[in-house]
Amino acid sequence: MPDLDYALNPYIGCYHACSYCYARLYTRMREVAEKWGDVVAVKVNLIDVLRKEAVATSKGVVGVGTITDPYQPVEATYKLTRKSLEILLQSGFKVSIQTKSPLVTRDLDLLARYRGRVDVGFTITTLKREVASQIEPRAPPPEERARALRVLSDSGIKTWVFYGPIIPGLNDDDSTIESLIQLARSTNSELYYDSLHVKPFMLADHPLTPYAKLAEVYRWDELFKRIEGRCREYSVDCKPGLTRNKPSISIKSFLK
Ligand code: SF4
Repeated sequence: MPDLDYALNPYIGCYHACSYCYARLYTRMREVAEKWGDVVAVKVNLIDVLRKEAVATSKGVVGVGTITDPYQPVEATYKLTRKSLEILLQSGFKVSIQTKSPLVTRDLDLLARYRGRVDVGFTITTLKREVASQIEPRAPPPEERARALRVLSDSGIKTWVFYGPIIPGLNDDDSTIESLIQLARSTNSELYYDSLHVKPFMLADHPLTPYAKLAEVYRWDELFKRIEGRCREYSVDCKPGLTRNKPSISIKSFLK
């Protein structure tokens, strides 16, 4: 991710098991990768290691939740994200949190205390519950994310909405774009947008297969211009997320 100096992920694996998630491809624990969503490993020595690293490392921006959700359900028990934030913020680091869970509001006291060095982003692919439940069946519903976003924003914390992945034919329609820009506007949030990152596992026998094939021939530039144009109308700061356009691999070879 641009603008980040470090990454911190307290958990390996993610209970949310979103259908488009490709984090398992970067997971070295075989059991977690193979049973994505059903097995989550907890970095039980994280706090000890982080305490030492926070002293020995030059200050910068730490992305919290760059690979897996730092506020997935297991966090309610282990509180590794909370404890990590305390160490990082007390040591002078900035933190940039990305989540799909309203559990982040549990830590509002801490985040508000250090609000000048904190930003929080919610991934919201759509505000339509029926679409979200299709692709993110175990993640908190989008309206709960939107509510939590508003709570943080109202507390003076810098917030952003991550509209991604955009899946052609599923969440690229005008009403979805409009509703997310309105949400960003009403919460004074920035909006990041990002295309679907097509991975080989999506290309056959997968719920996303028809959409992944569409992604190759999709007119991403036109969509991005449309999003940016609407953002300008509403005076919402709007930026590309991970990639400016194009699926991250060419799928032409898989279609032959
Ligand atoms: S919340 Fe993020 S990390 Fe977790 S399964 Fe969904 S996309 Fe993957």
